[in-house]
Amino acid sequence: MPDVTPVPLSQLTTLRTGGVPARMVDAETTDDLVDALRDLWADGEPWLVVGGGSNLFAGDDPFDGTVVRVLTEGIERLPSPRAGFARLRVQAGHSWDALVDYAVTEGLAGIAAMSGIPGTAGAAPIQNIGAYGQEIAETLVEVELIDESTGEVSTVPAAELALGFRTSVLKQHYGSEPTRSAVILSITLELADVGSAEGPVRGEQLRTALGLAPAASVSLGWIRDHVLATRARKGMVLDDGDPDTWSAGSFFQNAIVSESIARTLPDACPRWPLWPAIEQVTVIPLEGWNGVVPPPVHAPSLVKVSAAWLIENSGVGKGFHLPRSRAAVSGKHALALTNRGRASAEEIAELARFIQWRVQSEFGLLLQPEPVLVGVEL
Ligand SMILES: Cc1cc2nc3c(=O)[nH]c(=O)nc-3n(C[C@H](O)[C@H](O)[C@H](O)COP(=O)(O)OP(=O)(O)OC[C@H]3O[C@@H](n4cnc5c(N)ncnc54)[C@H](O)[C@@H]3O)c2cc1C
Repeated sequence: MPDVTPVPLSQLTTLRTGGVPARMVDAETTDDLVDALRDLWADGEPWLVVGGGSNLFAGDDPFDGTVVRVLTEGIERLPSPRAGFARLRVQAGHSWDALVDYAVTEGLAGIAAMSGIPGTAGAAPIQNIGAYGQEIAETLVEVELIDESTGEVSTVPAAELALGFRTSVLKQHYGSEPTRSAVILSITLELADVGSAEGPVRGEQLRTALGLAPAASVSLGWIRDHVLATRARKGMVLDDGDPDTWSAGSFFQNAIVSESIARTLPDACPRWPLWPAIEQVTVIPLEGWNGVVPPPVHAPSLVKVSAAWLIENSGVGKGFHLPRSRAAVSGKHALALTNRGRASAEEIAELARFIQWRVQSEFGLLLQPEPVLVGVEL
């Protein structure tokens, strides 16, 4: 296996925390990646796969196992069975943003709103990445993966990954194991071949973020440039020179609550129904109908509630930090916890716990972390 001298996880994660692993393997080809994982799983050693380290919050103690860095690269353009579409098969270690740049240059639509999200293509389905109302679930056709339980490589349709709001069967949510322990080797996307022409922009959330009228017509390149500029203003594009961006993106997920819980929150708290509240259709067989029209049945609806609003309105403003702590809420975005230089994982965890406590005291909701936590607890 291509072993390398282990470096601390603080050098591989965008939150810049994490101790030195016992072993480290750099997988530059899919064969190396598959071989390394099969060997590790046969030995039963602790293991951790790392892509761009942009959704990982690692503890300060040494990681007692092997870190496998996914460094495979490459984009292959394939024909699509749908007229007017093309497929891209992308190796797991390929930079996500470089993929978006390639797609935009090729005139392929469907991922431009996710410009500037750091990390790798292989990690993108893990939490079904999304921005401005666009998610990878909309364009992902299938992934090639290797399952820990069998060591077998297979092609799995996106429908089997249960992609939901910042989740999939492959994600390790805080306090639980992933439903399916597997490593993605490549992803295949299906994108609309729209070329360089200007066209309407799908999605109200994206149009609002970019200040576009419903009838506006722009190119994919215009969308990418303006998404990158909008994200940079919020500290959501990594910048080595700006500690205000040294984060794991959103540290907390927007809360998903029932309609009745959402009603207990102040009206000013932004919220979005998770699916349109459509009335269920009741079908009554004609022979069984007594002439009375039944009252409409409302499907129970879930509501996504803005975690940033809850945080700011619990008294934790942008830029907030605990006394003498080197961890701080981003000065540009209340959802991002940042490392202002050499903050320990414990300092960041302390700030996260403080925020959870403030929000729970004010609004009765326990915010859940979005990154994957390794060797650190909240
Ligand atoms: C500034 C900033 C902005 C961000 N903005 C957004 C945003 O707008 N929307 C959004 O959804 N996310 C956002 N994120 C979060 C993050 O960029 C994404 O979740 C990204 O997909 C993580 O990719 P990665 O390669 O860095 O994963 P890593 O952090 O390396 O890994 C994350 C998890 O995935 C696992 N993993 C990594 N690669 C694989 C693989 N090939 N197969 C199986 N498991 C794997 C890891 O073991 C770990 O559990 C942001 C992060 C930052 C720092």
